[in-house]
Amino acid sequence: MNQFRFSRRPDIGDKVRVSFEFFPPKTDEMEVRLWDTVTRLEPLKPRFVSVTYGAGGSTRERTARTVRRILNETTLTPAAHMTCVDAARHQVDAVISEFAEMGVTRFVALRGDPAAGVGTAYRPHPEGYANGAELVGALKSAGDFDISVSAYPEKHPESPDFATDIDMLKRKVDNGATRAITQFFFDNDLYERYVERARRAGIYIPIVPGILPVHNFTQVANFSSRCGALVPAWLAERFEGLENDPQTHALVASAVAAEQVHDLVERGVGDFHFYTMNRADLVFAVCHMIGIRSHESEATGSAAA
Ligand code: FAD
Repeated sequence: MNQFRFSRRPDIGDKVRVSFEFFPPKTDEMEVRLWDTVTRLEPLKPRFVSVTYGAGGSTRERTARTVRRILNETTLTPAAHMTCVDAARHQVDAVISEFAEMGVTRFVALRGDPAAGVGTAYRPHPEGYANGAELVGALKSAGDFDISVSAYPEKHPESPDFATDIDMLKRKVDNGATRAITQFFFDNDLYERYVERARRAGIYIPIVPGILPVHNFTQVANFSSRCGALVPAWLAERFEGLENDPQTHALVASAVAAEQVHDLVERGVGDFHFYTMNRADLVFAVCHMIGIRSHESEATGSAAA
C-alpha cells in the first residue's frame, strides 16, 4: 500500500471511540498549554485520557499532579501510565497505592525504556518487576483496574522476532491486561498483519491503534528510526518542502491522520488512541473529520453532515 484508501462516508463518529494521551508538563508555560489542550478536547468526550510516566519515575510527582487535576477539575477519566524502570517492587506498589487512593481506576502498564537510554540494554532493577507483564500482574493483584499495555505492530526493537514480541503481549494478557495500545505507525497493513498474528496466538483483547498526528515531520522521522517505526516514502513526500511552512504542514498532517483513521475504520477498527503531544489542534481537526464533535458544535447544528 502506498497510501490510505479514503472513505467517502461523511460521518463515522457514531462508530468510533477515542482516547487521548498527554505528558506531564515540565514548566509553567507547558502547563498552560496542556490545560488549554485538555479544555479544548474535553467536549469530545474521550473514553479516557492517559498521562505518561517518565523514565525511572522521573515524572512521578508531575504525573500524579496531572492525574489528580484531571480527576478534580474535569469530567474526564484519567489513566495513569506506570513503568518498572529503576524501581524496586515495593516502590512501584507504593505508586500504585497512591494512584488508587486518588481514585484512579485505569492504568497503562509499561516496562519502560532503559535508564541509560533507548538502544542500550535493559537491566531490570534487582528487586523490581522485570517487564510490562510482571507490572500487569502487580496491578491486577492490587485492585480491579482497567489495565492497558503496549503493543508494537512493527515489533519492539528489542524483540528478536514477531513470535517473541507476541509472546510478551500474550503474557501481559494472561496476567490481566484488558487492552493493548499500539506504538504509532503509518502503514495500516502492518497494523492489520500484527492483529492477525495476535489473534492467531489466542490474544483477543482490543488492540487499539495509536495515532500520531505529525506536528513536525523531521522530528517524527528521527524518533521513528529510534523506536523502529517505518516512515513510508509517500509520507515523506507529503511533507517535503514544508519545513518552514507550519500552516500547510498542519493542514497536511490533519488530512494524513484523518485518512489513516478512515482507512482503519473501513478495516473494522472502532477505537483510536491519539498521541496529542499536548496540542489540541490536529487531534481536534482529525476528530472533527471522523465525525466526533463537541457537545457545543452539536448544539449549534454545525455537526450536521
Ligand atoms: P515490554 O512489553 O515489557 O517488553 C518490550 C519487548 O521487549 C517485548 O515485546 C519483548 O519482546 C522484549 N522483552 C522484554 N522482556 C523480555 C524477556 N524477559 N524475555 C524476552 N523478551 C523480553 N515509556 C515511558 O517511559 N513512559 C510512558 O508513559 C510510556 N508510555 C507508552 C505508551 C504506549 C502505548 C507505548 C506503545 C509505549 C510507551 N512507552 C512509555 C515506551 C515503552 O516504555 C518502551 O517502548 C519500552 O522500551 C518497552 O516498554 P514495554 O512496556 O512495551 O515493554
